[in-house]
Amino acid sequence: MLDLFKDLDTYGHEQLVFFQDKASGLKVIVGIHSTALGPALGGCRMWPYKDESEAFRDVLRLSRGMSYKAAIAGLALGGGKAVIIGDSHTQKTEALLKAFGKYVEALGGRYITAEDVGMKVQDIDTIRTQTRFAVGGSNEGGSGDPSGMTALGTFQGMKAAVKAAGLGEDLSSLTIAIQGVGNVGYHLSSYLSAAGAKLVVSDIYAANAERVRDDFGASIVAPEDIYTVNCDVFAPCALGAILNQRTIPLLKCRIVAGAANNQLETENDGFALMKRGIVYAPDYAINGGGLINVAAELDGYNKELVYNKVNKIYNTIANILSLAESEGIPPHVAADRIAEQKLNEKKECGSHQAIKA
Ligand code: NAD
Repeated sequence: MLDLFKDLDTYGHEQLVFFQDKASGLKVIVGIHSTALGPALGGCRMWPYKDESEAFRDVLRLSRGMSYKAAIAGLALGGGKAVIIGDSHTQKTEALLKAFGKYVEALGGRYITAEDVGMKVQDIDTIRTQTRFAVGGSNEGGSGDPSGMTALGTFQGMKAAVKAAGLGEDLSSLTIAIQGVGNVGYHLSSYLSAAGAKLVVSDIYAANAERVRDDFGASIVAPEDIYTVNCDVFAPCALGAILNQRTIPLLKCRIVAGAANNQLETENDGFALMKRGIVYAPDYAINGGGLINVAAELDGYNKELVYNKVNKIYNTIANILSLAESEGIPPHVAADRIAEQKLNEKKECGSHQAIKA
């Protein structure tokens, strides 16, 4: 049974909005977790949820995650997310995307949408025909595919984690195992290869792994074998929840630093990594490059500024790991503490500034 306000209270949300458009079949929930630091920015996910309560919980979890990601990246943005209930392969039509754009516009800038699972850059272009409040498209100043910036930030964060783990600053003697070499994993491989690291990769889609082998000389292992690779850094760049009771005991690495969202299956898994002496670079802090990239559109996209900000993910991860070390807490707890402090500092001021019309 849904207990709407109890759940909103637990997650600390400001607002939840339900929209439907009968003509196009659109059913969407927009979660606005916080606008304390600025308008709530976060992607739109289209997914065939098995029921409405699953969609409801997903939007609450994802939108809160965006507040933390923006706060830790030092952006003047809050956290939001939209979930469209439906199959993006069969139900995503121009009419549905336009109806969604119209509703986003109706929120007046409290929520700014972007790409997520089930959405493409071209879909954002369609949504943008109806609203000013969409980023990550390819037209009119859109910044397009963010995965290159996500990879750059992950590379920087990984270097900070390597240093914090006492392995120095030179990656050329290190072995990095990458799980998933799609968009982000490919770009990350390129940075790591240029830094001289030895790469071992896995992907369930053989052509992606082979591309990284051919372009960067990576060795390929079967997907299930990536956890047991003898390596310095394990970089999850595929799915969430892959750090869990089953996989953590298998790991033979000193550091986990990768771009995938929601890597820890449960909070306890962050403690389990610490117990094993594995340094963990918290996912939402290390993978914020894509968010920094799309957010830059709001001020008129400037690539140099974006590079500068994304490179600072090195400092963000260094600060998190230093706090974790000095307090004797796992890095994911240290990251939450820093993000929550930033959110709470501003909460008293309350209202957000809508982006310029
Ligand atoms: P992608 O779909 O391009 O790449 C994911 C790759 O992982 C694919 O090649 C897929 O075949 C592979 N894969 C899936 N399951 C696997 C498994 N069990 N073992 C090995 N490989 C597997 O996605 P992406 O854009 O590269 O994103 C990768 C991760 O980073 C996702 O978790 C995403 O949420 C996160 N992320 C991406 C961005 C971005 O800018 N794209 C930003 C922040 C976070």
